[in-house]
Amino acid sequence: MAMANVLKKMLIGRAFTTEKSRIKMFGIMDWTLYPSRGFAIMLQRMGTRLGEDFVYNLGYTNGKMNGEEMVSAMRLKPSGGWITLKGMAEILDFTGYGKVDFMKMDMDDEGHHHIIVRWKNNPTVEEGIKLYGKKSMVCSFFRGLFSGHGEVEFGAKNIKLKEKVCVKEGKTDYCEWESRW
Ligand SMILES: [Zn+2]
Repeated sequence: MAMANVLKKMLIGRAFTTEKSRIKMFGIMDWTLYPSRGFAIMLQRMGTRLGEDFVYNLGYTNGKMNGEEMVSAMRLKPSGGWITLKGMAEILDFTGYGKVDFMKMDMDDEGHHHIIVRWKNNPTVEEGIKLYGKKSMVCSFFRGLFSGHGEVEFGAKNIKLKEKVCVKEGKTDYCEWESRW
């Protein structure tokens, strides 16, 4: 199935189906919906006990695993660059991760890159700020998650998104993350 068709299917909501009380993506990959507030609390408790780097690394490991499973579910080769930026933004939007704008996406064949991403309207980030203000560690988890995904889906190497601007500072309605290698 061509990528455009896969995304079209996803956008009209048919990529996800429920079968025997389970949510499946493309009928193959199990998914779980989890309440945003509870997710923010879970991340904060882990970070408080184990440190913010742990939360980032947890996101990174999960991003890699999930990316590889999605590649396998869609039967695509993880050679990098197989999904368009617009397609990725649409998947994130559809799955409730918020709105992503890729401000810069320069990459060479060896995986060197300069990536700048702006991200807003993520409910877990918003719940984290409501509960913990500037101490919220939710962004660290998602920076790790995006970094891990980016390495699988786009073929860049050593992505480590750093937060340049955060919505929790109250000056912008978005977070801006950058990675350069
Ligand atoms: Zn942030």
